[in-house]
Amino acid sequence: MKKVHGACPHDCPDTCAWVVTVNDEGEAIEFHGDPDHPFTKGALCSKLKRYPQRVYSQERVLYPLKRSGPKGSGEFVRISWDQAIEEVSSKFKETIEKSGPLAVLPYNFAGTIGMLQRYAGEQFFSRLGATEILGDICGATAYDAISSVIGPMDSMQVEDLQYSKFIILWGTNTATTNVHLWGGAIATARRSGATIVVVDPIKTNTAAHADWHIQVKPGTDAALALAMMHVIIRDGLYDKEFVDMHCLGFNGLSERVKEYPPEKAEEITGISATEIEKFAIAYATTSPSAIRTVVGMERYSNGHTAVRAVACLPGLVGAYREKGGGLSSFMLSMFFEALDYSVMLPPEEHLPRSRSLHLAELGRALTDPDMDPPVECLMVYNSNPVVTAPNQNLVIEGLKRDDLFAVVHEQFITDTALYADIVLPATTQFEHLELMPSWGTGYLALNKPAIEPLGEAVPNTELFRRLSRAMGFTETYLHLSDEERIRLMMATGHKYICGITYETLAENGWASLNLGDFQPLANGQFTTPSGKCEFYSQDYADAGQDPLPIYEPLDPFEYGVDYETPLHLVSAKNAHFLNSEYVNLRHRGTVKHQPEVEMNPQDAASRDIVDGDMVRLYNRFGEVRVRVHVSNMTKEGVVYLPFNWWPETTANGQSANALTPDGVSRRDIGSNAFDAHIQIRKAG
Ligand code: SF4
Repeated sequence: MKKVHGACPHDCPDTCAWVVTVNDEGEAIEFHGDPDHPFTKGALCSKLKRYPQRVYSQERVLYPLKRSGPKGSGEFVRISWDQAIEEVSSKFKETIEKSGPLAVLPYNFAGTIGMLQRYAGEQFFSRLGATEILGDICGATAYDAISSVIGPMDSMQVEDLQYSKFIILWGTNTATTNVHLWGGAIATARRSGATIVVVDPIKTNTAAHADWHIQVKPGTDAALALAMMHVIIRDGLYDKEFVDMHCLGFNGLSERVKEYPPEKAEEITGISATEIEKFAIAYATTSPSAIRTVVGMERYSNGHTAVRAVACLPGLVGAYREKGGGLSSFMLSMFFEALDYSVMLPPEEHLPRSRSLHLAELGRALTDPDMDPPVECLMVYNSNPVVTAPNQNLVIEGLKRDDLFAVVHEQFITDTALYADIVLPATTQFEHLELMPSWGTGYLALNKPAIEPLGEAVPNTELFRRLSRAMGFTETYLHLSDEERIRLMMATGHKYICGITYETLAENGWASLNLGDFQPLANGQFTTPSGKCEFYSQDYADAGQDPLPIYEPLDPFEYGVDYETPLHLVSAKNAHFLNSEYVNLRHRGTVKHQPEVEMNPQDAASRDIVDGDMVRLYNRFGEVRVRVHVSNMTKEGVVYLPFNWWPETTANGQSANALTPDGVSRRDIGSNAFDAHIQIRKAG
């Protein structure tokens, strides 16, 4: 028997530490959270309790497979790794010879977010000269917008929320998607009398358990934040000294917010002027106050303006002065300093790449007749874009192309793998070495492999080493072992990682970065170009965008909205899955194992729809048939259908992203999937 330390690989801010017990036969027989970890304290969420079931699932892909039937049929035959690598590398070479390297497109995202698995293909594809896949479906817009105000993500330490007296969870379902924060620092703050406010168009689990739910209309967060700033400045509730010393652009902001009196914001947001006044005054007069925002409100074409406006609030009231005050978001900047990311990233000589495409635009990338050269080879890893990318039908149309050669490295036959020419078996976190920073805490973890890889599964890193050899790429950096890469990443000598070695991490599983009393903005040391909290952003001005916070209405006609599709569709995550992961593993939390659309009673009644009816959701992008749950989870005019469900779980084999637009925000980044508008009718 042995006990092996590891950490959760999923796209979640908590990055739980775990311990796997392995018997003499090399089987993982017990699995639990590491009780010594100060943030996650031994508790894994209900999703991850199924991880061993995932590892040992009969449905795992354990050997390389080659398509033997039509695309999408799921018919494959087993082949050897040698054959698989030969076929993939030959196809890449042939394509590069015929059409150039830009005809090759990698597609990966956050299926596993460790340093090795997440970035494994970056150097390979830059060496190849392939088209670059840009940005994030989520994260990029919020990161960019917050950085434009306070600098590259010097978020307050998440544990410091325990000292807050007024916590706004803005567009984040913390009780479901950030469980250790909710049960830890926020619960502590609450016991000490803190008020918890949720701003969200959906009555989420978090909103239901908060002290105050501000149920704003989707895509109008900027108007709410601007109206709050209107009240705060009008009533002299801002921190004049902090603003004078540490903020840039106050005069411009003062003029701008005059355009957003609460009465006007009421019309835009659906929140009464009285409630806006009360909210703004409570926020400005309670100290310390904190705003927690992550990736919820960014998936609109105006998402960057929303995040930017919200991010101005803490500077205006001087919230950074006190422990427990400020803006809480991604905790990445300290890892960027502590670790040497260049070990995983393309070398300078291969930058910039000559063509880049957005993750959200996969369907268009695969089907655009003007794409020159067209994408002829697609390689997907860490991702299931048929479910997670917008405009599902266009993605599938692209994947069905006879002249597209698609390779998918996966643990299961996902809806994306169904269309692959070659499916390659991927290891799980039980089977590979991994270095895990956290985007939500200050803890670094080392995940040691607990068991041997099942079947012939390999980590992403090993896949790209094999492909590099087959392509004849001899650069040393492409062939480093996983342990060599981790040791190099940790060899920065930075004070945050001082005393933390590969060996100590291997022994304990995790370590706290040496952040000390990390309160980077208390004295106004913002990492923006001006060194100040930038209400006015020169970067935005240079990009031809409004340099001050502004509310830019969604354009109802820009992405497929017409008078026939009046309902605003929000397709935020489901509680029981992580993006599209785990949908194929049945769970007692999803007894019916089918998605339901949440619809307001007024919207249902006006369409003669009653609870439990099978309904059609449609717009110009597609149609989804599911049962309806009539509830007050949304306000009139807004419906909620989580995006995570695999298409097979709906009545017509299409899921929420069949209804979402495939654009990016007006900042040319992220996704605008939440711009979606639809109609709902009773299914015939
Ligand atoms: S998904 Fe998040 S909360 Fe659940 S075990 Fe992983 S890191 Fe922890």
